[in-house]
Amino acid sequence: MTDQPADGQRPSNLFYLASLRRPLVDRADGIYIWDQTGRRFIDGSSGAMVVNIGHGNRTVIEAMKRQMDRVTFAYRLHFENEPAEELARQLAAHMPEGLDRMFFVSGGSEAVESCIKLARQWAVATNQPQRWKVVTRFPSYHGGTIGSLSVTGDDALVESFRPLLRAMPTVPAPVTWRDRDNFSPEERGVRYADMLEERILEEGPETVLAFIMEPIGGAATAALVAPDSYYSRIREICDRFGVLLIHDEVMSGAGRSGRFLGGDHWDCLPDIVAMSKGIGSGYAPLGAMAASSRLVQPLLDAGGFQHGHTYAGNPLACAAGLAVLGEMDRLHLIDNAAAMGDALMGELLELRKRFPFIADVRGKGLLIGAEMVADPETLAPIEPGKKAYQRLLDHAYARGLIIYARRVKGGLDGDNFIVAPPMVVTREQVDEIVSILGDSLEALA
Ligand code: PLP
Repeated sequence: MTDQPADGQRPSNLFYLASLRRPLVDRADGIYIWDQTGRRFIDGSSGAMVVNIGHGNRTVIEAMKRQMDRVTFAYRLHFENEPAEELARQLAAHMPEGLDRMFFVSGGSEAVESCIKLARQWAVATNQPQRWKVVTRFPSYHGGTIGSLSVTGDDALVESFRPLLRAMPTVPAPVTWRDRDNFSPEERGVRYADMLEERILEEGPETVLAFIMEPIGGAATAALVAPDSYYSRIREICDRFGVLLIHDEVMSGAGRSGRFLGGDHWDCLPDIVAMSKGIGSGYAPLGAMAASSRLVQPLLDAGGFQHGHTYAGNPLACAAGLAVLGEMDRLHLIDNAAAMGDALMGELLELRKRFPFIADVRGKGLLIGAEMVADPETLAPIEPGKKAYQRLLDHAYARGLIIYARRVKGGLDGDNFIVAPPMVVTREQVDEIVSILGDSLEALA
């Protein structure tokens, strides 16, 4: 039966969040997206940081059509397929040295699940069955499935499901800009990394399997970037205790940060990487896990990776991913993300001068976030009931700009937003985004 809302909105058999009744989408092109009434929006968050190469890319669409004419599905236990093989080869060429073994899935949560299961099976295959704990950061976001949720640091999302989850050890995310002490940023970076060492020692190093982190924060920490010293120290600690380092690059990967992976900005080579969002760029549901042969081989020798989903390595999704990667290279989109990201960052720092309630602006490339507080001196949060993030979303939306904004319960203690347009964005479009954002912040003030 169809639910008939009292406010005259169109009926629907779908359900999401109560507040999420939005117009029906019609079409999209580049950084723009239209609803069915003909209204145009700037997609200033690439959906949820997904459409990295922009909407409506004809080369990708044509490549997908060609693949659809050949074969759209072949079960991976019956056939291998060329798009998956070629995507694995080309992705490996974009990855840091050594991360050359790929496993394809259909999204970010599945990619994170794959990383956890690979790590665990590697431990079992190498005679370390006592290692199972995956240390994670709080706050953080790693996905909505039960396994990925068990390493997600977001009370509101986890609360109802706690009885179903195995509690995993946490360390604070390095929100160093909030610290009021006499340490330099680099000293703070080391101190936050050292909290991982303390946690590993508390847990018993022989029980700790992995540490998972977003090199550049996403949904829970609005593009949080740690001081440089953090990253190398984390690697050092993981090495010292034989703990695997998993980088969740679902949001920060695929060129968005101005490098192929967010983690490429630092001297910190992960053991396993989860990717999704930008590698399919919204053209197909695609996720990937990358790992080194050192990890993969013991598992294969022990009989293979005991994990998979029906759509893993789907030829159509992989053909889309291959074309997306080709377009990213052909159009030099990673360089553009770096250049436009610098411009956007410069303009947001100017906005911050106009609106003192913007307490911090950070990020890399076209993944830029900001935090809003009631008092920039004391960092007192805006009252939760005032929902600054929602009002900002609404003001921007009313002016034809889509951004991403949230408040994380038990997390950063405040309202934050992310600006992350597609990597095809031009300088003029950056100016337009910032101008509308400025008007929206003005309306909020
Ligand atoms: N990991 C990170 C860092 C993410 O940002 C997300 C989604 O926002 C996920 C995992 C989960 O991805 P998906 O929603 O595709 O399952």
